[in-house]
Amino acid sequence: MVEFWNPRIEQLPKKELIEIQERLLRAQINRIYNRSPYYHKIMEEASLKPADIRNFDDLIKFPINNKDQIRENRNRTGDPWGQTLCVEEKISIENRISTGTSGDSTYIGFTNTDIKNITEMFCRHLWGIGVRPGMTTSLLTIPWHAYIVGLNRAFDLLGLKRWGTGFPSPLDVGRMIDAIDFFKRETTSYSYSAVDASLALEQILKDRGIDPKDYMADRITTHTGDIMTPKLRKHFIDELGGAHYSHGGLGDLWWVLNECQAMNGLHWWEDMIYTEVLDANTGERIGPGELGELTLTGLIHEAMPLVRFATDDIGKIEVEKCDCGRTHGRAWQITRRKYLLTVKGAKQKHITPFDIEEYFKTIPEMYTSQFSFVIDKKGELDQLWIKTTYDPTSTKDTEELRHRLEKGIENEFGVKTKIEFVTLGELPVIFHKIDRVIDMTKEK
Ligand SMILES: [Zn+2]
Repeated sequence: MVEFWNPRIEQLPKKELIEIQERLLRAQINRIYNRSPYYHKIMEEASLKPADIRNFDDLIKFPINNKDQIRENRNRTGDPWGQTLCVEEKISIENRISTGTSGDSTYIGFTNTDIKNITEMFCRHLWGIGVRPGMTTSLLTIPWHAYIVGLNRAFDLLGLKRWGTGFPSPLDVGRMIDAIDFFKRETTSYSYSAVDASLALEQILKDRGIDPKDYMADRITTHTGDIMTPKLRKHFIDELGGAHYSHGGLGDLWWVLNECQAMNGLHWWEDMIYTEVLDANTGERIGPGELGELTLTGLIHEAMPLVRFATDDIGKIEVEKCDCGRTHGRAWQITRRKYLLTVKGAKQKHITPFDIEEYFKTIPEMYTSQFSFVIDKKGELDQLWIKTTYDPTSTKDTEELRHRLEKGIENEFGVKTKIEFVTLGELPVIFHKIDRVIDMTKEK
């Protein structure tokens, strides 16, 4: 049976949820119009006054904006917040940067109330997947990411023992070996880990002849960085044991996305954030189930509310009640806009890292592999060029493996493929995750 941290809100009937959301929306629009020069200007240019935005139908009139525009405003005005901050800077108590997956990092401000709200988001997730007081936790991700402030407070609020609060980069192999010593000393029952760090840890343990299940069989893990594909989840269950849930979202708006026990999409909390999906070409709002750009409006954010903020993430949402009993929506972040590859001859419109990850999980030597696409020309690519790691302990002949992968991908996706084996250290890392694209056209 599912247990809820906040039973009333998590199961609130949709009609009441929308009433709350639209009331919060009106207050938020008023607030940004009066306090954020960035949004005041956007609204003035669109001839909008706060009274024009009363509900989500009206919200369509509000111009879409994104991180590039905030960066541009930051560079133009010299204000590190790009004039989005709605509080006096001195009471914005946590200034953290986002991971910059899509460019240079931007600042994120929080008030105490904001942090309480992030903590609440994590408590709903942790309680729902069975994390209980007294458990020991480990954090295998970057310790200063925007979310972590709320996650650590959730650990404290739930009465968890905290061990090893993160690494400068969880993909640092030397530090990972330290982590193994630490796991020997204390069995962790809950872990919050970057997907790439979990895979690297598994490979390091196997390289040393250690069965990962000796450490991880009874553990509940929330994986961050990338959403797990179904085959990756099965792989973790088979190879590491324990229960595995996906976590995703966006730092800028602390759009915390977490899987529930129904494992059918990742919940966001509708009483805090409004999510819509826009057609990636036309910018028109599209319905649940359709693939487009995920676009967010912060409803309760105090320090840095963002409205109709386009995330650069391609995905879909579902707003029907979930099997777990929650009435809050679920989202699927499929890929970053820049990771959508168009390759000559492909059987599908785009090839994404998800496709290749799913394929690799059918090849035993590639179970723990990490990879990046190489883009060697603008526009449609002539071939799919993949730099990837492989498992040397289970590979007899690397040339044979390379040939098998190239043929296999060609058959599966219809594209000419070039596989180049590399070590983990040769792949580009953005803090706690591998950058899936090496863009050689940028260097020219
Ligand atoms: Zn659910």
